[in-house]
Amino acid sequence: MKALDDLTFDNRFARLGDGFSTHVLPEPIDAPRLVVASSAAMALLDLDPAVAQTPVFAELFGGHKLWAEAEPRAMVYSGHQFGSYNPQLGDGRGLLLGEVYNAAGEHWDLHLKGAGQTPYSRMGDGRAVLRSSIREFLASEALHALGIPSSRALCVIGSDTPVWREKQERAAMVLRLAPSHIRFGHFEYFYYTQKTELHQQLAEHVLKLHFPECQEQPEPYLAMFREIVERNAELIAKWQAYGFCHGVMNTDNMSILGITFDFGPFAFLDDFDAHFICNHSDHEGRYSFSNQVPIGQWNLSALAQALTPYISVEALRETLGLYLPLYQAHYLDLMRRRLGLTTAEDDDQKLVERLLQLMQNSGVDYTLFFRRLGDEPAALAVAQLRDDFVDRAGFDAWADEYKARVEREGNASETQRRERMHAVNPLYILRNYLAQNAITAAESGDYSEVHRLHEVLSKPFEEQAGMEQYAQRPPDWGKHLEISCSS
Ligand code: AMP
Ligand code: MG
Repeated sequence: MKALDDLTFDNRFARLGDGFSTHVLPEPIDAPRLVVASSAAMALLDLDPAVAQTPVFAELFGGHKLWAEAEPRAMVYSGHQFGSYNPQLGDGRGLLLGEVYNAAGEHWDLHLKGAGQTPYSRMGDGRAVLRSSIREFLASEALHALGIPSSRALCVIGSDTPVWREKQERAAMVLRLAPSHIRFGHFEYFYYTQKTELHQQLAEHVLKLHFPECQEQPEPYLAMFREIVERNAELIAKWQAYGFCHGVMNTDNMSILGITFDFGPFAFLDDFDAHFICNHSDHEGRYSFSNQVPIGQWNLSALAQALTPYISVEALRETLGLYLPLYQAHYLDLMRRRLGLTTAEDDDQKLVERLLQLMQNSGVDYTLFFRRLGDEPAALAVAQLRDDFVDRAGFDAWADEYKARVEREGNASETQRRERMHAVNPLYILRNYLAQNAITAAESGDYSEVHRLHEVLSKPFEEQAGMEQYAQRPPDWGKHLEISCSS
């Protein structure tokens, strides 16, 4: 276990030079204090969880102190926002503090979000509010616990520093961890500015450090692009299977590692709704829940365009063509598991689609449905779920087919079935209203609800004693919360 002073830095991105990022010091926030820390994320850096309670922890991640070996940099990138190219984005309020190696030789970027203005802040104040920092913290750690690749969050540091959004709020910082903060938009920036040498340098950096196995392939960059396509297809299949809506799938928010990245007005579905739009500035529903699938491909084509200097258009097209079938295969595999099926049959896709249509028509809770479907005995579980559907006859027809399908699986015991299903169907997810309750308490200085929610969501598949209130449908006030995009 390490103390804070013992971290080993190796700032590979900073060494790429000033064409890629600008040296900027964090601007401290007043009276920094620990809101919450993730001991699981601290373990990634081999940090002793006790150090989160020391004053120096809040000082480091509140921008007051810095390791001598850290080299804080604001990265430049661009990207397609809502379909239009924005030539100059970049870290407007986040800094890559440095890169750290853990004892296992894994590498983690330390990125401090809300660290003040940078050359890329445009009109922004460089700050993040407590509300959005808590949401990012809870979501990254909750997604990870669900088995969905995501950037991680080490801690949130609160402060007295006032910031102005729709109303006055308080600034906070969140320390984000990821093996890399390179986005699709990094490649787009160097491609569209025609900075050929830097573009080449970026491509080499990413290939060598993040896709080393592709170096052995006959066409390394093509192999790398293929890997990025595969990872994104799998990531988005997981989002769809678990009801996660990202909300701002701009190419500057897409990680080249295929992890969930840059949290804004995201939401997990309560009621199943394929057309759900969590971002209330997304008037056309470009990033609606079901559109995430084609948008994943759209974003990959934007990346493909930026890789045309290295890969033939034909090979890029062919590789892009892998996305949808890969997505479908992963998605169906996950949904089969959620239904407790261990074998594959031709009509499984239809079985899933019909269920989702019935859920959509009746506004059935997406998470609780699957959890309850795994209850024992199966016949009773199905009979009880029936009450949630307006179209009883429709549900009965589906349930008959489902039961027949389960029977053809062979004879696992009721208990085996329950265990198998509960291991993939969470009881607890980060519902917007749960996050909102924790934020409301935190804004008045009580962080205990953030801690409790973080703890519950770290074991989403395990029923936890006394935590029934976290496994409920939202109350009326919490059903269609509008999450502010100004974070
Ligand atoms: P986002 O939609 O959060 O991914 O942000 C898009 C761009 O705006 C990124 O370049 C951010 O760094 C920048 N940005 C967002 N909020 C702020 C802020 N409060 N101050 C400065 N830049 C910001
Ligand atoms: Mg962003």
